[in-house]
Amino acid sequence: MSEQRKIVGPFHQLVTFRGLSLRGPLRNEQLEIISNAGMIIQGGHIQEVGDYEKLVKEVDQVIELEGPCVGLPGWIDSHTHICFAGSRHLDYSARNSGDSYLEIAERGGGIWDTVQKTRIADFEHLYKLTRDRLDIQLKCGVTTVECKSGYGLNHEQELKQLRIIKRLGEERSGDIIATCLAAHMTPRDFEGKPEDYLDSILTELLPVISKEGLAQRVDIFTEKSAFSVEQSRAYLTEAAKLGFQLTVHGDQFSPGGGLLAVETNASSVDHLENTTSETIRALGSSNTVATVLPGASLGLGMKFAPSRQLLDAGAIVNIASDWNPGSAPMGDLLTQAAIMGASEKLTDAEVLAGITFRAAAALRLNDRGRLIQGSVADFNVFNVDDYREILYHQGQLKPQTVWKKGQIFGKDG
Ligand SMILES: [Zn+2]
Repeated sequence: MSEQRKIVGPFHQLVTFRGLSLRGPLRNEQLEIISNAGMIIQGGHIQEVGDYEKLVKEVDQVIELEGPCVGLPGWIDSHTHICFAGSRHLDYSARNSGDSYLEIAERGGGIWDTVQKTRIADFEHLYKLTRDRLDIQLKCGVTTVECKSGYGLNHEQELKQLRIIKRLGEERSGDIIATCLAAHMTPRDFEGKPEDYLDSILTELLPVISKEGLAQRVDIFTEKSAFSVEQSRAYLTEAAKLGFQLTVHGDQFSPGGGLLAVETNASSVDHLENTTSETIRALGSSNTVATVLPGASLGLGMKFAPSRQLLDAGAIVNIASDWNPGSAPMGDLLTQAAIMGASEKLTDAEVLAGITFRAAAALRLNDRGRLIQGSVADFNVFNVDDYREILYHQGQLKPQTVWKKGQIFGKDG
């Protein structure tokens, strides 16, 4: 604690998210918005937030913000596939010409196409591609990023991806959260049934991942084109016994994964575009976070997941980008969240909660996502005087500065 106590401010508005419920609807009037606010930071953590004029007398260093500013917690993107090589613009173009996602996958496009391109990328090249995408995220205000494997689909190649993600996590002070998605699909070059492939992950790959500390979470794509509910249940049950947190790609095209996620006490179920009212009710009283992925809806030209209904049912609704080369190539979390909010009629408070403290819950992180005493000092400063300007601009308005652990990370003039 030798670092100086410093204050950042004054903020015209500081939106803290203090005291807000993790689940269910939120009204904008419930937001704690501190006017003329300051934030005292020491050792990369928030020590105090409150009236700037009062707090400025208690510090060693003053970092004065220029012009009207609004401060909010750094965004958290709880679902990405940014460790990939190659582009899938041909799939995108084919879909828009009438082919379905599943048809393209069946003829060898889709995930398998990215697997082949990612496998031939060497470690340094794939590392650099992933790092560059993380830098884009940071510039847009995303200070914590989950990153999945799943484009290796054999043990050596999955480990390559996860070692790259680990290296980036070490370079970015642990703010990259790794997830093993070896269960993305049964690789076309695997000789055996899907059950055999899942078994090989459990018995051969996950023990190495544990030993090397590469990931503490596993994910599975529960879908007709990937793994059935029964196959997924067996896999998740065994992975939990090995000590992994669970998450599920569920209910994107056909239902089943959502209820399975609740049943297996998964941290989150992600997608839900084609979920059922029974699943919405179940998520309403479950600690499994409902993660909606508007970027996938925009990339595939599909309806959004029913986030309004999920919130009204009492679910914990998190919004993530799903940035991947196939179904969600845009990767801009704020833009996607803002557009979905307008379409689904979500309040600003609900959208912003979905990319901050509710996103932290999906990753089981309890030290970030709110600007309160003790939290990591990750925050975004926007050059506006009203927080509602941020979603109104639908992603075009970028943060003026992005702060990670109390230091300016990206700067956009
Ligand atoms: Zn995904």
